[in-house]
Amino acid sequence: MDKLNGLKRTIYCAELRPADIGKEVVVMGWIQRSRDLGSLIFADVRDRSGICQIVFDENTKKEVYEKAQTLGSEYVVAVKGKVRQRSSINKDIPTGEIEITADDLLILNTAQTPPIYVKDDDNADETLRLKYRYLDLRKPHMQRNFLFRHKVAQIVRNFLSENGFIEIETPMLTKPTPEGARDYLVPSRVNNGKFYALPQSPQLFKQMLMVSGFDRYFQIARCFRDEDLRADRQPEFTQIDCEMSFVEPEDVMGIMEQMVQKIFKETLNVDIQLPLQRMTWQEAMTKYGSDKPDTRFDMQIQIVCDLTKDCGFSVFETAATDPKTSVRCLVAKGAEDKYSRKQIAKLEDLAKTYGAKGLAYIKLTQEGINSPIAKFIPEDKMQKLLEGVGAETGDLVLFVADKHKVAADALGHIRLQLGEDLGLIDKNKFNLLYVTEFPQFEYSEEEQRFMAMHHPFTMPMEEDLDKLDNDLENVRAKAYDMVLNGVELGGGSIRIHDAKIQEKMFECLGFTKESAQEKFGFLLEAFKYGTPPHGGIAFGMDRLIMLLLKENSIRDVIAFPKNQNAICPLTEAPSVSDSSALKELGIIIADTKNKNE
Ligand code: ASP
Repeated sequence: MDKLNGLKRTIYCAELRPADIGKEVVVMGWIQRSRDLGSLIFADVRDRSGICQIVFDENTKKEVYEKAQTLGSEYVVAVKGKVRQRSSINKDIPTGEIEITADDLLILNTAQTPPIYVKDDDNADETLRLKYRYLDLRKPHMQRNFLFRHKVAQIVRNFLSENGFIEIETPMLTKPTPEGARDYLVPSRVNNGKFYALPQSPQLFKQMLMVSGFDRYFQIARCFRDEDLRADRQPEFTQIDCEMSFVEPEDVMGIMEQMVQKIFKETLNVDIQLPLQRMTWQEAMTKYGSDKPDTRFDMQIQIVCDLTKDCGFSVFETAATDPKTSVRCLVAKGAEDKYSRKQIAKLEDLAKTYGAKGLAYIKLTQEGINSPIAKFIPEDKMQKLLEGVGAETGDLVLFVADKHKVAADALGHIRLQLGEDLGLIDKNKFNLLYVTEFPQFEYSEEEQRFMAMHHPFTMPMEEDLDKLDNDLENVRAKAYDMVLNGVELGGGSIRIHDAKIQEKMFECLGFTKESAQEKFGFLLEAFKYGTPPHGGIAFGMDRLIMLLLKENSIRDVIAFPKNQNAICPLTEAPSVSDSSALKELGIIIADTKNKNE
């Protein structure tokens, strides 16, 4: 193998342009492929910028030519040579007009045949990709993803620093934090039988940094949540985490939308108009059946209790008059002939997965009304109903009559399905908005108690404080989410900074005084020594990058992700621990399946 012996790279491969013709250059990288045509050898060398073509021909020194004959895929090389015009131009690549005629070639390392192709159109399955991640990351689009990610991190750091935010690191080994997922626990050797939790977010520390007077904090922070995984979830992920003192919701939302605007401008050259739309949670749920509405298309849900309360169809009448239920509908314009009875049954199945008992429909065909419920509704009432919802010939109207939340939820998902099916979603649009005034609490049927919708440190709206005694369902929070194309990008809130309200909040959430003290006593204590009003937000950085890059999986923007089973196929973590380490930690594995020898 050759040595560098002081040779220096002069340029990255894909930076070469016709203006470099005649120059002597040195490039270094990996052999993408080489073609030996007998008296002529072409080799493509790749580095992180892309590829350029190298030629070895009858003018090449004999020993260099012979060395070139041995080149294989993924060999590591340095090439010294002159840039010249190519005879057959390749318009598909940026360096397609030029090539390097090699004067010297160093083979710095050889490579075995790689188990996956280092090409964007490689279709290896994901497990193999993750097992050989270092090769997978050589692919041009993966290199692009991580250069892009770096750029976003730089923009964020610069923007926040310029706006007075200080980057401070908070502990990884800590106490459980309250984001509502399962914790990853780390056993303590020094304190046998005790555990640290990895942070689900830096929430409590960033609040204490406000007590400390830092005024504005940020961190590109790793967070850990032991949850079931999906395409956009990983057990460890990164947040752009911020906190500010002496602020109201608008102050936080205002500065953060500027940051996001800057990210869009500087990465994609997309102009985002500010201020972003603010929509209350109530409005989002009513019109879009979602707390993260996809506003790239309109098609809003309508509540039609007034039009159905005496329509003759008893299912609608009952739902329209009971205060706990409602009749809601969607009008899909011109979609009457796009859905067969079978396809509507599929939509109904979808509605049922969100708890709906059924999905009623009316088709307004050229020949008249086609609907299984038409026979129950007299003609004049039918006319009034259809006029009332704005339906015309050619339209398909879909109804759910159910509990408010179920009806909203089911139609919210049907709406998204219709949007996809009918091609109503412009995939080139980036629609951003804030959803505000979230409910403070949500009732958990499973736990039979109210839980914090955001987290227990979120400040209720002042006008709802008196409802903390007896009307938890209707307490609104000073909480906000930023939503992009129907996906939650980030969320935050103004925090409680008064120890008394915080204690009351714990009480509402069913903590005893002792358990609140045990879990969060340090925060309550901190709040006794002069806590400024404060609030913040955290953005899911991986998800943001995934959406900006239009990738389908969060794993494509994380260098070494886990698979769907929370396993890292590359390192095979998690793995068993040897028994002496466990002994030191005072741990005995009970489950025989995973028992150590
Ligand atoms: N800690 C919160 C979260 O992870 C964000 C915040 O309230 O600032 O969702």
